[in-house]
Amino acid sequence: MTSASAAGPFDLVIRGGRVVDPESRRDEVCDLAVTNGRIAAIGAVMGEAAREIDARGLVVAPGFVDLHAHGQTVAADRMQAFDGVTTTLELEAGVLPVALWYENQAKNGRVLNYGTAANWAFARIAAMIGVEPEADLGFMGRHSNDKRWIDNVATDAEMGEILRRLRQGLDEGGIGIGILNAYAPGAGVKEMSSVCSLAADYAVPTYTHVAYASNIDPKSSIEAYTRLVGYAGSTGAHMHICHFNSTSLQDVERAAALIRKAQELGLKITVEAYPYGTGSTVLGATFFADPGFTERTGGPYESIEMVDTGRTFHNRDELLAAQAQDPGSLVLWHFLDVEANPRHRDLLDVSVLYPGGAIASDAMPWTNPDGSVYDGEDWPLPEGTSSHPRSSGTFTRFLRQYVRERAMLPLIDGLAKCTLIPAEILAESTPAMRAKGRLAVGADADIVVFDYDTLTDRAEFKAMNRASAGMRHVIVNGEAVITDGDLVRAARPGRPVRRPVKAA
Ligand SMILES: [Zn+2]
Repeated sequence: MTSASAAGPFDLVIRGGRVVDPESRRDEVCDLAVTNGRIAAIGAVMGEAAREIDARGLVVAPGFVDLHAHGQTVAADRMQAFDGVTTTLELEAGVLPVALWYENQAKNGRVLNYGTAANWAFARIAAMIGVEPEADLGFMGRHSNDKRWIDNVATDAEMGEILRRLRQGLDEGGIGIGILNAYAPGAGVKEMSSVCSLAADYAVPTYTHVAYASNIDPKSSIEAYTRLVGYAGSTGAHMHICHFNSTSLQDVERAAALIRKAQELGLKITVEAYPYGTGSTVLGATFFADPGFTERTGGPYESIEMVDTGRTFHNRDELLAAQAQDPGSLVLWHFLDVEANPRHRDLLDVSVLYPGGAIASDAMPWTNPDGSVYDGEDWPLPEGTSSHPRSSGTFTRFLRQYVRERAMLPLIDGLAKCTLIPAEILAESTPAMRAKGRLAVGADADIVVFDYDTLTDRAEFKAMNRASAGMRHVIVNGEAVITDGDLVRAARPGRPVRRPVKAA
């Protein structure tokens, strides 16, 4: 399916690579030309080029689109670039105020394309405890000791204020509504259904961390998914389920069957997952404090591990004391033991391989040894900075384990879960995404060139800040951020992904 070549000169020609594009189903050795940040030709390219990449023996694919990335710094971008990511979006949480956040990113400069949703939890904090949101994720942790926004049902007045702030976030170009329901599980169904109706009115998705993660009723994962299906059906909102792997626990097969049925009935529900059995969050997360934590999750208190000290817990009292002292501290939560337990491996596979589901990292911010967010630009990252291996290795791990080693799906379908599928989840609401996640003439020149035979994640829980290996060239809007496997330190080609801003 080689197409006729366009005439040069081009800014860049990538020659002789195995070009794999999930949208057109192209999988052939050919050339690809770039001009003015866009793909100008694919096929046998004859024209002159200012720069050429010899891609013989390498795969050329669309840059990966990450729907779920909390890092949102130059350091986080660079680690994700080595994982093949070219667009990194903060959708599950989001921020407020949205306009200020985009201003800050543009001012600082970003390596990857970036974007955010409007943050429902921030709107709740503002409406229910009366503090103004600050446009970074740490805002939530800083107010997690005030339980009113976490546990209480909103009054009518508070609900009005929550919706007003979310509407403002969408009018400022936010790409949907991030619903961290598990972090404010006290919110009522009337409020959630109003938030979902707002999303439906704006024709934007919501991105939900469902209210409960539990194997048993009441407040089971199944209850939470059933509510989410209800919001989709009763409001018409597009409900996107975040990290299907970590909120389903042992019930993922039943959860997948329910979501599949809802999709067959025509409801707009989409799914993402990351290929790890260990999650990461803040110590103050309320589900850890649940008196039935061990029974509900199927795991012991030892499954909760502090990122900075490696400390684990032995009982609820220890955990509650630590929560009161240090609620914003990052912790790992080993919810499925995929290395030791084949049954847990099967459960993880159901979420990662869910048909039509995206791979999304849930990449966490990089933190200093004292727990503060690392916002410097040293490379490699300083000794002792930590996060979660998924912040550096989600996509390369997925391609290595599921596609190459275990051969559970063909490369083109594995790449679809990293590129076209996440782009399509956003395409209806966010026009900018229609030019991403694909290799087509006119599409954005967000391109990865990698060595499929050696591609691998390298980050581990005891060595998180090891970048993945195998990405030879990573191009963002036509500009190289990785060349011959090395970081281009000065590169800041990232652009905002944003919905049209409504004039005030
Ligand atoms: Zn989450």
